[in-house]
Amino acid sequence: MKVELDKTYGPLINGVLETGGKEFCFAAVDPATGNNLAYIRYCTESDVDRAVAAAQNAFPAWRNLGQQQRARLINLLADEIERNSERLAIIDALDVGRCVSEVRKDYLTAVRHYRYFASVVMAYEDSGREIEGGYAIARREPLGVCGQIIPWNAPAIMAAFKLAPALVAGNTVVLKPDENATLSTLELAKLINKIFPAGVMNMVTGLGEVVGAALSEHPLVRKLSFTGSTEVGRIIAGVAAKRLVPSTLELGGKSANIVFPDIEDIDAVIDNATFAAIHNNGQSCLAGTRLFVHADIADVFSEKLIASFRRVKIGSPLAEDSRVSCLVNARQGERVLDYIKLGQEEGAELLVGGARAVVAGCEHGYFIQPTILLARNEMRICQEEIFGPVLSLIIWDDYETMIAQANGTEYGLASGIYTSNLKHAMETASRLEAGSVWINRYSNITDGTAFGGYKNSGIGREFCREALNAYTQIKTITVQAELPDIWFSPL
Ligand code: NAD
Repeated sequence: MKVELDKTYGPLINGVLETGGKEFCFAAVDPATGNNLAYIRYCTESDVDRAVAAAQNAFPAWRNLGQQQRARLINLLADEIERNSERLAIIDALDVGRCVSEVRKDYLTAVRHYRYFASVVMAYEDSGREIEGGYAIARREPLGVCGQIIPWNAPAIMAAFKLAPALVAGNTVVLKPDENATLSTLELAKLINKIFPAGVMNMVTGLGEVVGAALSEHPLVRKLSFTGSTEVGRIIAGVAAKRLVPSTLELGGKSANIVFPDIEDIDAVIDNATFAAIHNNGQSCLAGTRLFVHADIADVFSEKLIASFRRVKIGSPLAEDSRVSCLVNARQGERVLDYIKLGQEEGAELLVGGARAVVAGCEHGYFIQPTILLARNEMRICQEEIFGPVLSLIIWDDYETMIAQANGTEYGLASGIYTSNLKHAMETASRLEAGSVWINRYSNITDGTAFGGYKNSGIGREFCREALNAYTQIKTITVQAELPDIWFSPL
């Protein structure tokens, strides 16, 4: 499919898709070819002001529209995204450099996610109980204008995680996409603009330190929701604390994926562990980047794992059979190569990969060979997020030491376990400090299963009904059948 893009894009404010103006814009660059795809406006603080004001004005009518109508519109949006998903997936492949076959699946997930929240909100009932002589109602009410900030690695899913629960619960939104991946979110804004009343969903574009900061500090923003690095998450948490507004933070990860010696199908485990580490070119918060393999099977496992990494097809983001494509930009590519070098300096052994690959027609791109380093958990490559197709292989034999190491990072987003012994699996799952533990299938995410981090991987949960709690507050309303007797200041 050939995709036509606008030459310039600007923010969506109060139902108007504003245009760029080349003088104050940044380029959306195809990381594979270096071609400029379009120009996008750098918003300013005053644009953020206008967007928040639009969201604030739209809030009363949107809140009063009622769950059913809001759910209906969210379902319409899901239908629109589904109809446009091929085009949107290609835009992401061009803009972010990810394999198109993979991004297509992101759009399926996003569509399901909007529909999930359109359904679940209908069963999101207020609660109540009898009190003496009356009744107490705990009513869930929306918070108001939500400021939402997302990263570049999976724009479709990130936008869906934020927009679906916030909007369906009756809030209005100002969303800031990442400057490295704005195009598909702005195309999404066009679809949203066809369906939602003006001002309900606004989008501001530009730099995090300018636009993200202005949004998070805006006095009319009543809720902050951020997905991105732990470093910036701390800034957002600080702003939320200062302003006394609630925040949801989905941050980084360095997830442990654990292989027991009793696995039945070694090839299936290896395929799943390969996927876990390097899907999304390794640019995934939940990637299983530390693979703990038991010493009894380490030799045969390593040999087969190396072969699996070698087999992975590196290719253009638009080629259907590519499984690894290019990183989001040169800076990220250089960062990943630096980590590979650092790992070797720290004493890790390079088992496979380790260099940049060249893909014909995409010479500009940083295609990094799927890489395995035989490492120790205390090394920096096992402690810090690399965000590239790089796996640290760690051999274990003592169970307690392995558990201590699996938990031995600042992060706690996800983890995996492969075993045929249910007792091992359940015991280990309860010992792991991670928001998700996937037994025998890494990244086993389904709508309604909570997703979020322990420790420095974040605060709060998304992807599940609980997200509605994070976008609402309880008002207690009590009703008495009769006025009380006079007693305080008798006649
Ligand atoms: P980042 O933190 O640099 O940027 C994320 C967003 O924050 C961007 O939109 C950016 O413009 C904005 N931003 C930057 N500085 C800001 C500031 N001072 N104030 C307000 N906003 C600001 O992260 P990134 O490099 O774009 O994304 C990768 C990170 O995101 C990784 O750490 C990854 O693990 C994490 N991530 C987490 C999840 C999750 O669900 N836990 C999902 C995807 C990505």
